[in-house]
Amino acid sequence: MFIELILPVAVPGVFTYFVPPELRERAGIGRRVVAPFGQGRKLYSGIVRRTDVRDPGLKRIKAILSVLDEAPVVTEKQLALWDSISGHYMCTLGEVMLAALPGALVLSSETRIVAAGDERPAWTGNARQDVLLDALEQRHELSMADVGELLALKDPMPVIKKMLEQGTLMIAEEIGEKFTPRMDRFVRLTEAASSEEALHAWFDRLEKAPKLLGLLMKYVEASNRFGDGPREVKREVLLRASGTTAAHLNKLVEKELFEVYERPAGVPPPGAVGRAKELSAPQCAALDHVRAALAEKPVCLLHGVTASGKTELYMELIAEAMGKGRQTLYLLPEIALTTQAIGRLRARFGESVGVCHSRLPPRARTDLWLAMLRDPAAHPLIVGARSALLLPFNDLGLVVVDEEHDPSYKQHEPAPRYNARDMAIVLAGSHGARTVLGSATPSMESFFNAREGRYGLAELLVRHGDAALPKVERVDIADEAKRKRMRGHFSETMLKGIEAAIARKEQAILFQNRRGYVPVWQCETCGWIPECEHCDVSLTYHKQQHGLRCHYCGRSYPPPSRCSACGSARLRMIGFGTEKIEEDLALLLPDARIARMDQDTTRGKHAFDRILSRFGEGGIDILVGTQMVTKGLDFDPVTVVGIINADQLLRFPDFRAHERAFQMMSQVAGRSGRKRDPGTVYIQARDIHHPVIGLVTAHDTKGMYERELEHRRAHGYPPFTRLVRLVMKHRDEARAIATADALASVLRTGLGDRVLGPEPPPVARIRDLHLRGILVKLDRNAYRSGKDFLREAIDRVFAMPEHRAVRLVIDVDPM
Ligand code: ADP
Ligand code: ZN
Ligand code: ZN
Repeated sequence: MFIELILPVAVPGVFTYFVPPELRERAGIGRRVVAPFGQGRKLYSGIVRRTDVRDPGLKRIKAILSVLDEAPVVTEKQLALWDSISGHYMCTLGEVMLAALPGALVLSSETRIVAAGDERPAWTGNARQDVLLDALEQRHELSMADVGELLALKDPMPVIKKMLEQGTLMIAEEIGEKFTPRMDRFVRLTEAASSEEALHAWFDRLEKAPKLLGLLMKYVEASNRFGDGPREVKREVLLRASGTTAAHLNKLVEKELFEVYERPAGVPPPGAVGRAKELSAPQCAALDHVRAALAEKPVCLLHGVTASGKTELYMELIAEAMGKGRQTLYLLPEIALTTQAIGRLRARFGESVGVCHSRLPPRARTDLWLAMLRDPAAHPLIVGARSALLLPFNDLGLVVVDEEHDPSYKQHEPAPRYNARDMAIVLAGSHGARTVLGSATPSMESFFNAREGRYGLAELLVRHGDAALPKVERVDIADEAKRKRMRGHFSETMLKGIEAAIARKEQAILFQNRRGYVPVWQCETCGWIPECEHCDVSLTYHKQQHGLRCHYCGRSYPPPSRCSACGSARLRMIGFGTEKIEEDLALLLPDARIARMDQDTTRGKHAFDRILSRFGEGGIDILVGTQMVTKGLDFDPVTVVGIINADQLLRFPDFRAHERAFQMMSQVAGRSGRKRDPGTVYIQARDIHHPVIGLVTAHDTKGMYERELEHRRAHGYPPFTRLVRLVMKHRDEARAIATADALASVLRTGLGDRVLGPEPPPVARIRDLHLRGILVKLDRNAYRSGKDFLREAIDRVFAMPEHRAVRLVIDVDPM
């Protein structure tokens, strides 16, 4: 008997192995088996993909050594999805497997293991386990190969696997930080102080202590004690609002008026779960549209303006899926967005909401994976970023892809370079589930699919309640400069708007799509710009670390004191990033509380949550940030949004630049005035008459779509074609060029002028590798055959010895 295995290696293909008779019963599809692979007798745990395999008739065929699992760890539906991903994105099944399976489930000779507890467990009574635990006491860490030697076993994996399950061992990559949720602290009245009379008595008692009385009054006001809101107030909010200190609060805790307790951030108070909001008439109509569309088509695009209540609609659909006992996958483009969403979803659906994203410790993903396999009913709703789609769903009824236009759905590095939105639709299809794609600024692709009738389309074009869409004001910075109304990067018009908002106790968000202090330093004499030694890109100055940094390879450099071309000491900074904006703003508005949100300030585990929760509690007046601030944030008091430099967004050298610029500007604008008065958005630009800015100002998403579609049609870009980007990389530039030229000419024999390049990409050298790119436009109607041709051409060229050493990156549907 023979089986096909998927192995965690980047070698294309599946691998046929012989199954010894004693293992035949157990080597079923989706289970892990141990197999030798490659030279040096390395062992890997592979996944059984097929069991009814015919004898390949090879002279020497390797046999599997053991079967690790008694039940599948990968379902057949997952295997089918892996096939789709590997086929569509032209990557190996091994690469998909490595992206999908939690690390702890992928064992190899190189896997390193450590003891799980601090103390060595008592004698296990099992000689092998004891030997192993003793060795780990001495050496701390062992590789699988070490264990094999130690125990004189050819295949030590079954022993290891058993001990991993018993919890005496751990995979080295799983140790380290334990996941501890960020805690929020709350204040409420003690039981004894809760009655009407008791509370009156307290008011009397505190009469002579104005600070304490103020604290109690603020609590009563904020907790809405006489309405039906929650009876608790966040500790920080209460202290800030009442202008008191922790010492005041502690006094009242000692006197047993208040009690303070904590709860993980985002978890609703007990008893608050389950309440649904009543939908408005436009929301009901849109929901009916979605339902009707989904009765006929597998996918429905929900085009709903910002703050229209799309999330409320999703929750209705989720409740329906749950009612039928089916699972829901709710995808968000960015981990950052999950906190707010999880809070709302837990408030409605309780603790069973499963969470999956890459910032969770590896252990959490393993646990979730195994829990879903054991009991699919345990997590009827899974919320997560990209990789959540790779979890073992049992019976999906609904997939929600929120902010479906977002480029973060696309994985860039490493392969599989998949778009989670597109693969979510494939996943849904295999379960017979429905997909809802939601956005205020849908992607060209999805709009096009809706218009062609492949997807249903539902619209919700009014904001919830009486909220109006924000007023957009274009600020001509050239003109303001002429009138001496520019303060650095800020126009007086915008500054006044921000100041007025703060005076009204409202908040502002400022968007600048570059991090760091300044992108570039330049020699005033000769124009020299400091560049990374390993990448062809200019360096960004980061003031906090007082150094230059390469945003491509991460290397740091000391700041230059003089020009390395002409020696001049006259260097100036050009351009500006979020760090500089934050600093300048602090000088202009010294009383404002300003915070910054970008990759640099959100590295820590809870850093992102902390900034957002402080903003949500009113502890920050102005939030400055990169595209992170454009997405999904829902804070009522934000009434002013400023886009510091729109020209920069529009000038990006990419065919999607206008689409992206429109989406980013509209999305960040949508953070403004979500409940109160409309709110104002300031767009600063030189080219204020740029048509895209006009479309943002008019909130004209469809107009944008029409304009852009014509452009795409004329130039043969998606959605009219599908793109594949091929990038050749080598340390030796000449070799990268030679291979790229060879590949391009082979491609041209079948695809003609649908092959663009080769040419050096905008950053032509990264980490000392020289890059050459080819872009292929495949005809939508001949997509399959086009891709087959591509595959053959690549295999042919890379089979030649002179090209073999050149690295090739294939990116299908690049973003
Ligand atoms: P979107 O997802 O379209 O941006 P949200 O679902 O976040 O919109 O809704 C915007 C705000 O309006 C949220 O604070 C939400 O709680 C509130 N909201 C939306 N619909 C309702 C409703 N039917 N009743 C009460 N509040 C609502
Ligand atoms: Zn110079
Ligand atoms: Zn670099």
